Amino acid sequence: MAHGKPDYYAILGVARDADDATIKAAFRKLAREHHPDRNRDAGAEDRFKEVNEAYAVLSDPDKRRAYDLGDQLGGGFGGFGGGGGGFGGFGSFFDEIFGRGGGQRRPSGPRPGRNAVVEIEVPLETIFAGGKHDVHLRREEECHTCGGNGAAPGTSPVTCDECGGAGQKVVRRRQGSVVFQQVSPCDRCGGSGHMVKDPCPSCDGSGTEESDQEITVTIPIGIDDGTALRVPGLGEASPDKGGIPGDLHVVVRGHDERFERRGQHLIVREEVSVVDAALGAKRKLQTPCGTVSLEIPAGVQPGHTIKLTREGLPGLHGRGGRGDLYVAVEVKVPEKLSREQKKLYEQLRKLEK
Ligand SMILES: [Zn+2]
Ligand SMILES: [Zn+2]
Repeated sequence: MAHGKPDYYAILGVARDADDATIKAAFRKLAREHHPDRNRDAGAEDRFKEVNEAYAVLSDPDKRRAYDLGDQLGGGFGGFGGGGGGFGGFGSFFDEIFGRGGGQRRPSGPRPGRNAVVEIEVPLETIFAGGKHDVHLRREEECHTCGGNGAAPGTSPVTCDECGGAGQKVVRRRQGSVVFQQVSPCDRCGGSGHMVKDPCPSCDGSGTEESDQEITVTIPIGIDDGTALRVPGLGEASPDKGGIPGDLHVVVRGHDERFERRGQHLIVREEVSVVDAALGAKRKLQTPCGTVSLEIPAGVQPGHTIKLTREGLPGLHGRGGRGDLYVAVEVKVPEKLSREQKKLYEQLRKLEK
């Protein structure tokens, strides 16, 4: 993969098309193997972090998709934060593998919001010439009434009386002569360390609300089908107060009723009458890239393809020359004939004998 991103599939030792269950099983096995509490080898901890990072991405459908698209994203893979601070769900992974509270809940900062992916269809004309395209978004964002803390106006969240604001509780358990110390997120406040007494009426205390938004993205000339444009900050809101939102990945697909796109090449079917097929013809063809002159050779056969060099789509940002246009000839046999046409066809038949 480009951009020096780690290959998360290789880290977990799974195929690129592995399903969720396979990924989860691989993760559990590796996480056990390399858990720092069990494995004291040098490098085990780094390996453990890698495995967790890989799982955090591949187990989340949005992140996995964005990661798979990563080669085309251009520059870094922001949004879910590199390094330790980025693993929002870290605690839950530990809980899952080692039972509740087997590991330490990492004191991380506010978690960034999740990345979001939307797909848009744009006319091939826009791929040819570049341009702007409006995108309608429906997204979760910080509640405007309470500013994201979930408390009704005029009130504020109070410190959790169960955990005293720590967000976690420590339970000591004795088994024989061994004392186990378990740390788990506080049940009362869900690990946030504070509680809302009077929930905000707009968001019912969740701190986020759905909003509709119209944004305009700039489509670069010649953008490949399925490429994602990254819009920083327009992903989902952070679940935590003060956390940055995720990014939005806008996947661009070129679409045209008539023209099929294959990379930079375009393919179109063109109907030709029996007479034009026999005698040849010249015509103008409207394409997403402008009008071209098409010369149908006399005696063209059904299924024949005429190649128009360099009449296809340009390369990204107009660089690297244009693709070709392929015109697949379809000979249309008339279903009804006028009296006069019939007479002429009869004459043709006599000539052929
Ligand atoms: Zn609110
Ligand atoms: Zn608490």
